[in-house]
Formats: sequence, C-alpha cells, structure tokens
Amino acid sequence: MKESRSSAQEVWQQVLAALDKKAARPSFQSSLKQVKPKALSDDRLELIVATEFARDWLEKRGRKAIETALAQVLDGPLKVTFELGQIGLDLEAGEGSRRRRSDRRGPRHGPEGLESTPLNPRYTFENFVVGKSNQFAQAAALAVSRKPAKAYNPLFIFGGVGLGKTHLMQAIGHGVAREHPDLRVEYVSGDTFTYHVVSSIREDRFGSFRRKYHDVDVWLVDDIQFIAAKERTEAEFFQVFNTLYETGRQVVIASDRPPKELQVMDDRLRSRFEWGLTADIKPPDLETRIAILARRAEAENVEVPEEVLHFTARRVKSNIRVLEGALITLLAAASLTDTPVTLSLAAEQLRDHSLDAEQPLSIGRIQHLVADHFNFTVPELTARTRQRDVVHARQIAMYLCRDVLKASYPSIARAFGGKDHSTVIHACAKIKREMADSSVRALVSELGVRLRMDV
Ligand code: ADP
Ligand code: MG
Repeated sequence: MKESRSSAQEVWQQVLAALDKKAARPSFQSSLKQVKPKALSDDRLELIVATEFARDWLEKRGRKAIETALAQVLDGPLKVTFELGQIGLDLEAGEGSRRRRSDRRGPRHGPEGLESTPLNPRYTFENFVVGKSNQFAQAAALAVSRKPAKAYNPLFIFGGVGLGKTHLMQAIGHGVAREHPDLRVEYVSGDTFTYHVVSSIREDRFGSFRRKYHDVDVWLVDDIQFIAAKERTEAEFFQVFNTLYETGRQVVIASDRPPKELQVMDDRLRSRFEWGLTADIKPPDLETRIAILARRAEAENVEVPEEVLHFTARRVKSNIRVLEGALITLLAAASLTDTPVTLSLAAEQLRDHSLDAEQPLSIGRIQHLVADHFNFTVPELTARTRQRDVVHARQIAMYLCRDVLKASYPSIARAFGGKDHSTVIHACAKIKREMADSSVRALVSELGVRLRMDV
C-alpha cells in the first residue's frame, strides 16, 4: 500500500510536469490542485479528487490529456480513474513515516536509512489555537520548549486522532530551535523509529543508530503506540529513553491513549512515562473550532463569513484535521466556481461531507464494532446463544456500553435481546475480573479507544 502510494505520487508528479503546457487553462489548473494520487497498478492510476466539481470537470474534459501524459511518462497506455474523496492536509510536510529527500532546515542528521523527519513549518505555537480542550497540554508544551529538561520531563501528551498532538510536538521543536539553537532536536514517530530499529538490525549498524539517538537534547517521539508491544523496538526505545533521561535531556511523548492503556511489554516503561507530566487533549468545543477555522481562513487569505464558520464548525466536531479539510473543500469549491463563500454554498458542499465523526456513540455502534471485531453479525451477537465465543464477545460489548457509554444496566439489557439486567451486571463484573489478564485488558482498551476515536 505504501509502496504503491509513493510510486503513484512520483508518477503523478511527472504527469503534472508533462501536462504543464496543455493544462494552461485556469479550470484545468485549479482542478488539478484538487487531485491526490491514490494508487498505481499495472493498468491504472487511481486519483482522488476533493470536489465533485473538479471530478466532473476532469472526467469530461481532462481525462484525455492526463492519459496521454501518463502514456508518455510510463511508456504505455494506462487508464485513469477519478474518485471523490478527501485529499486531506497530509500532502504537506512533516507527518509520521513520510521521509522527504530535502530538509529546508539545513543538512539532515543521520546516515542513509536513519534520516530525520523535518518539522512542518506550519506547526508552530503561533498557529496553535488555545481553548479549554487543549490549554493544559499547550501550556506544558510551551514550558518545555522554553526550559527543556527543566520543566516537565518526560512530558506525555495524549488524545484522539486529529486533535493537535503532532502540531504541539513540532511546536516544541520549533520553539527550542529558536530559543536554544545550540540544542539538538529530534522528532520521530513511533513507526519511523520502528523502521530505524528494524533497518539497523537488518544492516547490522547499531553503531550509527546509537550515535544518532544517544546524542539528542530534545527528543520528540510521536505516536508511541506504534512501538509498544514490539519487543526489540521497545527495548531499544527504553535504552534511548534511559540514556537521555539520565543525562538530563528532554523527552516528549505523544500517544493516542494514556500511559496506563498502552500495551507495553515492559511495565517499567509505562511507569517512566508517568514520572513527568501527563497532559491530555480533548475534542475542541464549538468556540475553539470556530477560532481554528477563522485562523485557517486567514492563513489562506480568504474572507469567510462568520455564519459559514459557525456552520462548518457545527458539522465537524471531533477531529480538527477533518474540520480543516471541510473548510479547504469549501474554499476550493468557491474558487473553482468563482463564487463567494456563502452559507448556501457551504450547505451544498458539506452536505455529503463525512459526518461519521459526529455520530453519537450508541449501544448500536458498540455492538457493531465488537461484532465486527469478532467476526459475527450483530444479530448473532445479541441472539440467545450460549456458544462460548459469542458469550465472551457479548460480555465485552456489554462492558463497553457500561464503561464507555455509561449506559444503564436495564438499557443495555434491552439492547441485547431483552435479557435480564442481572445478566449485564454479571457480564461487566466478569470482564472486569478478566482484565487482570493483559491480553483481555489490551483488547478492551483497544476497542474502547477505537470507539472514542471513531475509527
Ligand atoms: P494529531 O497528531 O493529534 O492526530 P495533528 O497535530 O496532526 O493531530 O492536527 C491535525 C490538524 O489540525 C493539523 O493540521 C493541525 O495543524 C490542526 N490543529 C490541531 N489542533 C489545532 C489547534 N489547536 N489550532 C490550530 N490548528 C490545530
Ligand atoms: Mg499525529
């Protein structure tokens, strides 16, 4: 998947270069801006297009030119498909495992295969809107960037997807670079770190690995959940962590869940995470969402009426990346059709916008998630059967209804085929006991996180 995406990206860049002259028309130009390559296979290049308007335009008027350019680039005919979807903001630099060839901030640290991830220039404290949901984490991050290793160490930030963890981590990086230019900052995501460990094992060069990681002043480790429970990676992480910590360097960690819910092999690791300060980021309230949109519109240099900001902020509640994506879609549609950004345009454009993140958490959703995880259907899950694996799945679902949703016992009982509410009480108690076992605990917390994050 990653493979195909990166080669799709390369091919698409070449297609754009080949199209350069043919695509001089403004409508072609602006439609192409709405496109992101999705995948490349033997017979086709799949493209994602952000707006319906651009997709239709490309289908009808752009396909031929693109296919011709593609044939030039790849030396043979391929089909192009256009699919409506979010092109998101991850086209930009900086996130996770994306390793770019050039680093604007000067020479890259680390030998071949251990390259550092550059910081996204947009992820600064100045661009971070502070609200009730994130003010504690923001204040802690700011303190750390001003006084590395003297304020809170380690700082552990957790919160759901798209709530600004990566933004805050990198803001610390920018802040330190500005205020303490002599300190070495290293940002790495859990999956990149894993990759570095794996490639150091494969190529037998732990020497360079240690030189790289044991010589960092401010270590920013994003999405730590990706290294947890991978034995060797976790052990290497533990080593680096200890070395840095003991020599008075700053460590900052971000995760999608709190330390106690991390699936770690070594409990000493979890307890170290709790030595410093733990700060969570919650979904932003309406006011903060509006402020974030206003800031973004300003950055894009577009005037967006207050009512449109309100409307958009109401539509998307629990993920700032999706929220910004909605605004970008809207601005793109306005510029493509050359119309002002109005409430009716917003209503029309965002009508089909994914509102999944807004679905209220319900018993039904928990049943779906759990049934899906165990490979049953919901009717099977709620049926009157005593088959052991069904019973177990059902008890976990009941437990989650109680634990995550705080639903009443009778309402849970009703939703599970009208059972007696003492059955639910028994189920919850049983799962609680079974959670002494780490595999059950990990499963329940994983499902809980997925529910809260809506994935
Ligand atoms: P996470 O790492 O928690 O999944 P990100 O840090 O990648 O989330 O944030 C997702 C997007 O939302 C980014 O474009 C980021 O700039 C933006 N964002 C998140 N929180 C804020 C905020 N408080 N103010 C401004 N932009 C924000
Ligand atoms: Mg992130």
